[in-house]
Amino acid sequence: MLDKSQALLERAQKTIPGGVNSPVRAFKGVGGTPPFIKRAEGAYIFDEDNNKYIDFVLSWGPAILGHANPEIVAAAQHAVAMGSSFGAPTAAEIDIAEMIVARVPGLDRVRMVSSGTEACMSAIRVARGVKSREKIIKFSGCYHGHADSFLIAAGSGAMTLGLPNSPGVTRGTAQDTLIAQFNNIESVRALIDANPDQVAAVILEPVCGNTGCIPPQDDFLKKLRALCTEKDVALIIDEVMTGFRVARGGAVERYGVKPDLYCFGKVIGGGFPMAAYGGTHEMMSQVAPDGPIYQAGTLSGNPVAVAAGIAALKQLDAEAYDLLEARGAQLEAGFQKIIDANGYPLSQHRVGSMFTLFFHPGPIRNHEDVKSCDLERFNHFFHAMLKRGVYLAPSQFEAGFLSTAHTPEIIDEVLEKAEAALAEVF
Ligand SMILES: *Cc1c(COP(=O)(O)O)cnc(C)c1O
Repeated sequence: MLDKSQALLERAQKTIPGGVNSPVRAFKGVGGTPPFIKRAEGAYIFDEDNNKYIDFVLSWGPAILGHANPEIVAAAQHAVAMGSSFGAPTAAEIDIAEMIVARVPGLDRVRMVSSGTEACMSAIRVARGVKSREKIIKFSGCYHGHADSFLIAAGSGAMTLGLPNSPGVTRGTAQDTLIAQFNNIESVRALIDANPDQVAAVILEPVCGNTGCIPPQDDFLKKLRALCTEKDVALIIDEVMTGFRVARGGAVERYGVKPDLYCFGKVIGGGFPMAAYGGTHEMMSQVAPDGPIYQAGTLSGNPVAVAAGIAALKQLDAEAYDLLEARGAQLEAGFQKIIDANGYPLSQHRVGSMFTLFFHPGPIRNHEDVKSCDLERFNHFFHAMLKRGVYLAPSQFEAGFLSTAHTPEIIDEVLEKAEAALAEVF
């Protein structure tokens, strides 16, 4: 029953486009009414009609320690009572910068910003400024926020809504964004060779998340690193989703590759609006006020967000990642058992606590493969799970997330429900 959510949606639509402040929340891809959420705790979210769901969206990634994590709550409460924003430097900003730099291989300096979009648009500005070139290469299906340069073949929201290229993005901007195919190194080489001395950077999600979870295959990241070095192109690894999620030091640690620039977000804000970009000394010394490349923000390094981020990172130790890996493995093994026992034409990918069940027999290597998923069946499955109290991302083109609050018992419960839901779908 979603009576209150339905009434709220109708009311919201009068003053907010689509009734939501970010398009994917509107359930346009899967249809139906999105539950309006009242509160959340641990692995659960509760809607206005008092329905309870096991949550695999986790605010689209940030809530890696579960919702309303007591230490994050306490840290944020303490910080907000001390004044929520000063527009001046604070000691805690150094603490979080040091924590991030210490964890992430190859990272020398970071600048805090307020969203992943800001982090990615700032990183490409730095790359363009340093390399004095204008074009960038991104991958079909990868999402790097909603800045103009990235709204070209941009995954998740844009794809679900069928708006691969947003109106309002100028032709000039679109021309400067070249599209390669994930897990296809030759597609990158061809673009660089076809645009000699024009490509400033290659930006990618090291594990695709915004077109469903797709791991890099056959040393793709290492090959990309070598190619970028060979061609003097900056490599930007967008860890907004994968950072501090797929490993303690992010995907760069997991896959042993060092980019020139990094983007972070989601997990580092502990559920508050915070993100960061960073890189090598060479790159980051060009950022204002040390260098000429401008970037600024009134609420950047916000004390409440920084306190929450520190409280999150402190809890994300080696043990936490072992636990997340174990929970992920449990879910994956359970799904596989159901798939094999019933011969369903499904496949899955999982990297740590990120996963996607594809309505496609596989292999899934990139966005082009995901496009041939059985979306109608996915949508049916999504609603069959929602009805059973499991909140999955409302699109096939999204990754699911686990938190440390997802106990083995909760995962067993979800697997039972998935088995029943799939039997309803097939
Ligand atoms: C979510 C996301 C972004 C954008 O972050 P926002 O905070 O939503 O602006 C950028 N890159 C990746 C890989 C993301 O998953």
